[in-house]
Amino acid sequence: MSRLFCYSAAMASIAENISTVRKQITKCAEQSGRAADSVCLLAVSKTQSPELIREAYAAGQHDFGENYVQEALDKITTLPLPGIRWHFIGPIQSNKTRDIAEHFDWVHSVDRLKIAQRLDAQRPATKGPLNICIQINLSAEDTKSGTSLEEAEGLCTQISKLQHLRLRGLMAIPAPCADLDQQRQVFRPLAEMLGRLAIHYPQMDTLSIGMSADFEAAIAEGSTIVRIGTAIFGARPH
Ligand SMILES: *Cc1c(COP(=O)(O)O)cnc(C)c1O
Repeated sequence: MSRLFCYSAAMASIAENISTVRKQITKCAEQSGRAADSVCLLAVSKTQSPELIREAYAAGQHDFGENYVQEALDKITTLPLPGIRWHFIGPIQSNKTRDIAEHFDWVHSVDRLKIAQRLDAQRPATKGPLNICIQINLSAEDTKSGTSLEEAEGLCTQISKLQHLRLRGLMAIPAPCADLDQQRQVFRPLAEMLGRLAIHYPQMDTLSIGMSADFEAAIAEGSTIVRIGTAIFGARPH
């Protein structure tokens, strides 16, 4: 009895969280003069159970982001739900590219040519091109993944030639910062870079920025995919 009760309570709360986040996205988009449907909500489900993902899916959520390949493959196999899309958003080791190329729809965290070439070679022809974002290191921290803004254009030129990949845009994970104006300032050069690149590469229509703590600033700066974990699923188990 009590287990059943907890289960339905959790279910209501994930659906409620998604609804709250969607309303906030709509509000931010409208404040920036943008259409609400120009921002895609990516639910970041790393470390969350398949049951919670199923609840989010039942609430109408179709895009899910994962950071760890083996954990993601288990979930992808367990949840063959119609219309579900899996995005890989974590650091990529070269020995994991085959699994990523075979099982994901999007990869947000490509930051070097070698990884892009492996994904291209290993993408099954039957699946259509794999959507790619180049991860940019905006905070210039040695510890974080991502290429520099200076090197982004060269990487785009190379990646755009790869037949089994579709270069879609740029992604970043800035260092945490509480101030909305500062968050916007950090995102701005990325948005400007995408604007310049899109002149040469019209298929580049994606700015993957904004997490639970900074998605309002990201939308104000032109984000088209916000990656939200905590605000949907609560604090991560580990
Ligand atoms: C974990 C993670 C997120 C989600 O972060 P929250 O603060 O929980 O919303 C977004 N993007 C990436 C790349 C992540 O690793």
